[in-house]
Amino acid sequence: MKYFSTNNKELRYGFKDAVIKGLAPDKGLFFPVSIPQLSKAFFEKLPQMSLAQIGFEVAKHFVGEDISQSDLKNICEEVFNFPIPLVKVEDSVYSLELFHGPTCAFKDVGARFMSRCLGVFAKQNKEEVTILVATSGDTGSAVANGFLGVKGVKVIILYPKGKVSKIQEQQLTTMGQNITALEVEGTFDDCQALVKKAFADKDLSTKMNLTSANSINIARLLPQSFYYFYALAQLQAKDKDVIVSVPSGNYGNLTGGLLAKQMGLPIKKFVASANRNKVVPDYLESGLYEPKASVQTISNAMDVGAPSNFERMMELYQNEHVDILKDINGAWYSDKETEKIMAEVYKKEGYILDPHGAVGYLGLKKYLDKKSELGIFLETAHPAKFKDTVEKVIKSELEIPEYLKQCLNKEKNSIIIGKEFASLKTYLLKQSLVK
Ligand SMILES: *Cc1c(COP(=O)(O)O)cnc(C)c1O
Repeated sequence: MKYFSTNNKELRYGFKDAVIKGLAPDKGLFFPVSIPQLSKAFFEKLPQMSLAQIGFEVAKHFVGEDISQSDLKNICEEVFNFPIPLVKVEDSVYSLELFHGPTCAFKDVGARFMSRCLGVFAKQNKEEVTILVATSGDTGSAVANGFLGVKGVKVIILYPKGKVSKIQEQQLTTMGQNITALEVEGTFDDCQALVKKAFADKDLSTKMNLTSANSINIARLLPQSFYYFYALAQLQAKDKDVIVSVPSGNYGNLTGGLLAKQMGLPIKKFVASANRNKVVPDYLESGLYEPKASVQTISNAMDVGAPSNFERMMELYQNEHVDILKDINGAWYSDKETEKIMAEVYKKEGYILDPHGAVGYLGLKKYLDKKSELGIFLETAHPAKFKDTVEKVIKSELEIPEYLKQCLNKEKNSIIIGKEFASLKTYLLKQSLVK
């Protein structure tokens, strides 16, 4: 499979090149030149397949020869070693729980797959690579966890001092091995600016192989299509249509679903469910796309005002608003509505929604016609990651999953640096001498 840049459809890149670069040199996003159509035989086998098997069968079309089939099989088995159950919440409504991975957020799926791909490429190139990642909380730990112990890869996380939650900070700073956490005396934007400067620095690029692990990497997007197949395999909706609601921020998760549909998966319709950062629901309604500054909400991983995967959604539908409307409905909710439904669903069904999943649930209920349809919403984070909000709303104590408990007890290990580029550069140059 070849990839073009959304800014220049003439250029061609292989999978390996696209994964290592992350972003095309012209700042466009990588996009496959064609969407593979999966065979009838694949769909007949689907109900019996594991997530790892599905991942392999889908991924091989996108990866081509850049990773051998046996390596790809191993990657899928290693990466998808945690359950992604489809749980019935009420009549005709199901939750696809994507939070049973090591860091309790759906980002584990994409980050783990991408990290293993980069690990294979590092081995092929026989050179050590250093991954720099700026994080406002969740992404850093999912990426770092994916790379934990991967040979030939060092990960340096930059996070804003004092601006991530206690659980998130413990997740970032207690991994050890090939993972280092830099605590930056600044904001998330400062961290992101530092990473960008490091990539542009000629001195650093001659002394070390710096790579990014940002969320628009094609190797993070691709595996986010696998679990839609797996959800339908578990659902076995015989004579009913299926609609899927996706709580969205950067729209990578939804784009994964749209890809699955275009590969042949029978999903009748998607709901793009948002919080008050609603530029995509607004676009669906008006046909006008107007990015805005983000506003803070209780579903903070969706606080995105200029979603980076919107370009890919446009690409999938050739910018045709009417075609997009055939496949996607939009919905958005305030924090108040989100909290209200969390309390209600807990009381009525005994099911604990996290604030992100709650937005997905609301979007699903807005459009679901239970007479002829079954509905799935994606649960993207473990409720315990948002302990304070959830406990306040459901008025009950939450159980903390074992993984989160463990890292709460470990010793924090971080290096404090200033927000000026010289601090980061000095640190990185010192690292380049340590082999
Ligand atoms: C990142 C994230 C989202 C948003 O996913 P996108 O692919 O950016 O739309 C939703 N929920 C949680 C918990 C997340 O961490």
